Amino acid sequence: MTRLLAAPLVLPRHTLRNRIIMGSMHTGFEEHPEGSLPLAAFYAERAKGGAALIITGGIAPNRDGAVMEDGAKLTDADEVEWHRPLTEAAHRHGAKICLQILHTGRYAMSRSPVAPSAVPTPINPAKPRALTTREVRQTVQDYIRCALLAKEAGYDGVEIMGSEGYLINQFLAPATNLRDDAYGGSLGNRHRFAEEICTGIRAACGDGFLMIFRLSLLDLVENGSTWDENLILAHKLQQAGVDMFNTGIGWHEARIPTIATMVPRAAFAGFTAKLKQAVDIPVIAANRINMPEVAEDILQSGMADAVCLARPLLADPEWPNKAVQQQDDAVNTCIACNQACLDHLFEGKAATCLVNPFAGYETRMHITPAALPKHIAVVGAGPAGLAFADTAARRGHRITLFDQSDEIGGQLNIAKTIPGKPEFHETLRYFRHRLNHPGITLQLGRRAEAADLAAFDEIVLATGIRPRLPQIEGIGHPKVLSYLDVLRDRRPVGGSVAIIGAGGIGFDTAEFLAHSGTDSALDTPLFLRQWQIDPTMQARGALKSDRAALPAAARRIWLLQRKPGTPGRQLGKTTGWIHRLSLTGMGVTLWGGVEYLKIDDGGLHIRRDDEVSVLPADHIVICAGQEPQQELAAALAAIGRTAHLIGGAEKAAELDAKRAIRAGTELALRI
Ligand code: FAD
Ligand code: NAP
Ligand code: SF4
Repeated sequence: MTRLLAAPLVLPRHTLRNRIIMGSMHTGFEEHPEGSLPLAAFYAERAKGGAALIITGGIAPNRDGAVMEDGAKLTDADEVEWHRPLTEAAHRHGAKICLQILHTGRYAMSRSPVAPSAVPTPINPAKPRALTTREVRQTVQDYIRCALLAKEAGYDGVEIMGSEGYLINQFLAPATNLRDDAYGGSLGNRHRFAEEICTGIRAACGDGFLMIFRLSLLDLVENGSTWDENLILAHKLQQAGVDMFNTGIGWHEARIPTIATMVPRAAFAGFTAKLKQAVDIPVIAANRINMPEVAEDILQSGMADAVCLARPLLADPEWPNKAVQQQDDAVNTCIACNQACLDHLFEGKAATCLVNPFAGYETRMHITPAALPKHIAVVGAGPAGLAFADTAARRGHRITLFDQSDEIGGQLNIAKTIPGKPEFHETLRYFRHRLNHPGITLQLGRRAEAADLAAFDEIVLATGIRPRLPQIEGIGHPKVLSYLDVLRDRRPVGGSVAIIGAGGIGFDTAEFLAHSGTDSALDTPLFLRQWQIDPTMQARGALKSDRAALPAAARRIWLLQRKPGTPGRQLGKTTGWIHRLSLTGMGVTLWGGVEYLKIDDGGLHIRRDDEVSVLPADHIVICAGQEPQQELAAALAAIGRTAHLIGGAEKAAELDAKRAIRAGTELALRI
């Protein structure tokens, strides 16, 4: 056993350190053309930050198993050298490191994926081919070879990915295993593939080599495994030499959110606790554990022996050390938005983090002392201004940060009120902590004018945006409200509402208006009930029904856009489907291809599919995008001063907090 579980199981806070594992996460650096040094630097930061154990992103045991064509694999001695910098980086800073062996099976983004049976998946257009019995046996050998090569590369062990709907999971579940040979049919046959892999690795790699199995506790798909079947498997794997179970929740094709921001914190830890009661080896809890107090609760109450955090360590590499030192205020919290990590990977880009623009840039972005420290005025304490002030002050500049509002945060103060988005409170708490730096003077409730700024060495305008008012006949009618009227100023809204504009803010406004006022989605029992997850886990796949049981919307809502097609296609790949499913599940009407004709006492007049109709809305809420707020820049130009524009003030189109924070940070590193 590693140092990981050397301490007693019921812990005071200072022993949290030995229980914090950095979970496996594909970063995009696994396939970096310049080798493994960027990934080694990424792991080094997290090891330095106190992670007891790092589990790498998934590495395939053979070519078929790779995430995509030419995806990362460990299949021969030549590839061992690529991995050495990773193991050395972790060990240099006192962490253990395990290679995750991942065979994607029918999820492979390749021309000809392989699987137990030729059953297609809704998330991959390529139909899989069933492996022959000989190929299955060879694949077992490939796993064993991969583990041996990992040992040679200096890894302390391996995590065998047996969940999230990947190959091993495909063998386990009747939904995807229709075989009639020794690897399909009976339960024993469906389990055989996983068992042979674990027995083989233990025999080949010996007793001192850590073997973690990531077990799918809840498949969340129709005809997935049952809880009893999972327990039988767990006992077999324990016999086969597995040292620890990590927990996996939901296949990638499951239509139930498992890691997104609307999932309550630690929502699935109760299921991990049930596994812990049933097995004799340590069990690791995962999913939506983003603050030290959440981790501590899980460990103190004995629900698990360790916690696994992936995205939270992207957001803050020092999370474990801060947790141990009880510096919760200093934690840069993962808000589970997926915007810069998973969504980037789906766009073919490397992962970074919305709240931590340094993530993934360990070899490229460094805070160095400013050659010439300056006195800098920053106007606007939204995410762009805050990120600038934070980094610039740490470089030695003196910052005066103005905001006309009484609180920092800009539009994040509106975002945090949307049902399912309260994690933005943590981002604001983190920035408040960072503003304690002696180099920053904060002036709230102070609208900056050009004359106030003239004496500063440099001026940074982070003044954000103003909502766009579209040219529609009747736009001045009293029925018309802006999203700020609704979300910020809480103007009363009637029983039927048409929302013009279905971007991120249109969707959030619909979500806000559909709920009756309580932030219900963040209550775990209610969340499980609404998404039809069987808390007893007796149903196959722990799924009571394939249709979510969401409450009816609190009012009649039409969410509209001019573009053809269903609204929401431009939302993030990993979360957009949840917003669409949630709103349609509540009965909100989502229409594209709408032409707005006029607004009058009757409501909103529209043309759609060549038909003219009137939506009898009590209110029409405008969410039609935004325009940059640049008046101050013009006033400064008039007195002969130029300013740096960042965030929405620079460009409103396609603005989000990710871009605003990166823009502020990058300017602060240059100035
Ligand atoms: P802002 O946040 O607009 O801040 C500008 C600041 O400047 C304000 O505080 C304002 O008071 C101040 N200011 C302006 N003029 C002056 C002046 N003359 N003197 C003093 N102060 C001044 N983005 C995401 O990435 N993910 C999300 O999930 C998300 N959800 C959202 C939900 C809603 C409902 C809304 C409204 C926005 C959401 N956003 C989200 C967008 C995100 O909040 C914005 O992109 C981001 O806040 C823009 O940052 P900024 O710093 O450029 O401007
Ligand atoms: P947006 O995403 O650009 O959407 C604007 C909407 O208004 C579109 O649906 C657009 O669709 C419509 N529109 C644009 N011009 C119009 C006009 N003249 N008349 C009528 N309709 C018009 O902007 P947003 O919703 O204001 O969001 C602002 C930013 O915040 C976005 O960049 C978004 O990414 C970010 N945000 C992100 C999230 C998130 O969860 N990630 C949440 C909220 C906000 P048509 O042109 O088809 O009508
Ligand atoms: Fe977490 Fe969002 Fe950062 Fe991803 S981008 S690590 S989800 S805060």
